[in-house]
Amino acid sequence: MDIDLARAWVQAIAAAVDQRKDHLTQLDSAIGDADHGVNMHRGFSAVTTALDGTDPDTVGALLVKVGTTLVSSIGGASGPLYGSAFRAIGKMLDAPRATPQEFAHALAPGLDAIRKLGAATPGDKTMIDAYTPALAAFQQQAHAGADLAAAALAAADAAEDGLRATTPLQARKGRASYLGARSIGHPDPGAASTALIFRALAETAVAR
Ligand code: ADP
Ligand code: MG
Repeated sequence: MDIDLARAWVQAIAAAVDQRKDHLTQLDSAIGDADHGVNMHRGFSAVTTALDGTDPDTVGALLVKVGTTLVSSIGGASGPLYGSAFRAIGKMLDAPRATPQEFAHALAPGLDAIRKLGAATPGDKTMIDAYTPALAAFQQQAHAGADLAAAALAAADAAEDGLRATTPLQARKGRASYLGARSIGHPDPGAASTALIFRALAETAVAR
């Protein structure tokens, strides 16, 4: 991971959110308040604008900027959750580049930040049901010596499996939990956006 790749990753997330905005909102209309696509789009549009005017000298500074912008631009729960995750990841990466192992090491506090802020555990039908398996897959690959692209591909596949596994769950955190058993049978919108974020990383790293 280096600064250019981090920037390309964030641009790929913004492009994917732009493309999948209606789908994310549709998922949220089933078990939430139909704004997840709008929230993510607002956040990553603001991030694109914020990054256009900056030339950070570390990967971490860029990702902290992403996080700070998400916190201040998204009204919904996902803003502070993703914002604190990107900030936590960024705080670990105080250099112009990071090895896959170093990046794996930085992804862990990102998940911790979401868990700390949202108090969700795996199986509660939230974004952490995609992030948790994605992190495990990334770490396993990185520690086995895989390059960033291979580790990110494994993480994206695991995040998508995690997303699919949220469908039969009953939500225990966030707005969807208000529906009780009626939340069963729908994938979690935040798990879908987390899968999109890891897929964007994989596609960016593979294209490099
Ligand atoms: P809001 O729920 O405020 O409308 P969004 O629609 O943007 O915000 O985001 C909803 C997503 O946020 C959910 O699908 C879920 O993945 C995630 N989420 C909500 N609450 C929590 C929580 N306490 N912990 C982790 N993730 C959460
Ligand atoms: Mg919502």
